[in-house]
Amino acid sequence: MPDRATSFEAVIGLEVHAQLLTTTKIFCGCPTTFGAPPNTHVCPVCLGMPGALPVLNRHAVDLAIKAGLALGCEIQPHSVFARKNYFYPDLPKGYQISQYDKPIALRGTLRLGPKAQTPVVGITRAHLEEDAGKSLHHGFPDSSRATYVDFNRTGVPLLEIVTEPDLRNAADAADCFWRIREMLVALGVNDGNMEEGSLRCDANISVRPAGQTAFGTKAEVKNVNSFRYLQKALEYEIERQIEVVSSGGRVVQETRLWDSTAGITTSMRSKEEAHDYRYFPEPDLGPLEVPAAWVESVRATMAELPEARRARLIAAHGLSEYDADQLVSFLSGGADFFEAVVAAGAPPKAASNWIQGEVRRKLKEAGVDDIAQAAISAAALAGLIQHADRGTVSSTVAKEIFEKRWGTGATSQAIIDAEGLAQIGDESELEAVVQQVIAAHPDPVAQYRGGKTATFGFLVGQAMKASKGKANPKVVSELMKRALEKLSA
Ligand code: ADP
Ligand code: ZN
Ligand code: MG
Repeated sequence: MPDRATSFEAVIGLEVHAQLLTTTKIFCGCPTTFGAPPNTHVCPVCLGMPGALPVLNRHAVDLAIKAGLALGCEIQPHSVFARKNYFYPDLPKGYQISQYDKPIALRGTLRLGPKAQTPVVGITRAHLEEDAGKSLHHGFPDSSRATYVDFNRTGVPLLEIVTEPDLRNAADAADCFWRIREMLVALGVNDGNMEEGSLRCDANISVRPAGQTAFGTKAEVKNVNSFRYLQKALEYEIERQIEVVSSGGRVVQETRLWDSTAGITTSMRSKEEAHDYRYFPEPDLGPLEVPAAWVESVRATMAELPEARRARLIAAHGLSEYDADQLVSFLSGGADFFEAVVAAGAPPKAASNWIQGEVRRKLKEAGVDDIAQAAISAAALAGLIQHADRGTVSSTVAKEIFEKRWGTGATSQAIIDAEGLAQIGDESELEAVVQQVIAAHPDPVAQYRGGKTATFGFLVGQAMKASKGKANPKVVSELMKRALEKLSA
C-alpha cells in the first residue's frame, strides 16, 4: 500500500492583506491610528453618506508602488478602482472600493531564502482596496442580543498581495508569509502587527495525487493570525483533504475558519452560496495613472531589502548564506546589531555565532524578541568576543562573563580581574594539572596507551574541569599529549 502522505501533493496560494502605513484613510482625511474609541475616526466619505465623494490618498499609492517593486512586480501605468458589491453591517456603502481586473501591480516573484535552490513563489498581483469596519459581538451589557459596529477601520488603505499556487507544503507557506511581512516592514509599508489586524493572511489550499498536473478543488482558510497557526492550519487542512479524497469523497470549494483552540478548521460558508459581487468601475474615481517618473521617484526612496542585505553581509563579512539569513530574517534587529558588533572590532564569524547563540538564548529567556532590547551593548559584546578571540579567557569563561555582563555595566576586563578568570596559558601551572589528571585516572590512561585514543578527549576534559574552565584548551591538549607519549616511551 502506498504511503498516504507521499502519494498526495498539496498546492497552496496566499492572499495577504496589508494595511498601508498612511496617516489618513485611502479616500478621506480620517486618521488611521489603531485603538481610538469606536466611531471617532469617521466622516461622511468613509460612512458612505449619499453625495460624499472619495479622493485617492497619494501616499497610499506611493506605498503600493514600493511594495510592488519590492515584490518584483511590473507597476501598471493604468489601473482602475471598482465597486465590489455585497451587504454586510460593517460595510456602510454597500460596496467596497477595490481594484479588480486592472490592479496596480502584476507578475512578481519572491524567493524563499538566500540559496539559489530555495523555492521561488510567483506573485500574481497586488492591488489597492479599502478595509471594511469591524463588528463587535462581545463586551457590552446586551451582547447577548445586540452586535455593534465600529467604523474606525472603514476606509483604511490595504494592499492585497496574491501569490500563485506555487507553494507545496505548510512550512513553505508560513515562510512565504514571513518573508512578505519582513519585506513590507523593512520598507515601512506595513507595521507587521498581526494582533491588531494590520497584516492578515488567507490561505488557499488543495491536494492532488502526486504526478497529476491539474489542480484539485481548493478551500480557503481564514482567520489565521500567526505564522505558527498558518502552518498548523494548513497541516490540518492538508490531512483533512487527503482523508476526504482518499476515502472516495470530494473536497468542497468553501471558506473555512481556523479554530486555534481546537486546532482544526471548520466550514464557514460554501462557494455555492457565495456572492456575485457585480463588480463595475467606480464612477466617482478616475483611473489611476502612474507614469514611469512616479515609479522611479518611489524607487529612489526604497530602503535596502532583506535579499540585498543578506548579499551584502555575505560579501562584506564572509558570512555563510545560512548565517546571513538568520541575522537578517529570523532575529529582529539581528543584522543591525551584528554590524555594530563587527564595527566595534569583533571578527564577523565569531560575532555571528555569539549573536545567534548566547544573545538569542538570553533574549528568549527574557521573553523579548527584538535584539535592540538586548541588555548588552554591541561595543561590550565586541570587547568580550575579542578577549575570547585573543585567548585572554577561554570560551567557557567568556560565556560566564557574558552572563555576568548581561544587564550590568561592568566591563569584561573588570570581571576578569575581579574574579580571576583570565585564561591559564602558563605551561608549568598546567603541567601540574595534567599530571594530577593522569595520576587520578589510571584506567583511561592505560586504555589510551593500549591504542584506545578516544579516551584522550576525556582526559583533556578532566584537566579543563580541574582548572574550572580557565585553562587554555590548546595548551592543555598539547601538554597532555606530550605527557602520555612520555609514559609510553
Ligand atoms: P478565486 O477566483 O477563488 O478568488 P483565484 O484564482 O483568484 O481564486 O486565486 C486565489 C488564490 O488561490 C491565489 O492565491 C491562488 O494562487 C490560489 N489558488 C488558486 N487555485 C488554487 C488551487 N487549486 N489550489 C490551491 N490554491 C489555489
Ligand atoms: Zn472618513
Ligand atoms: Mg480571486
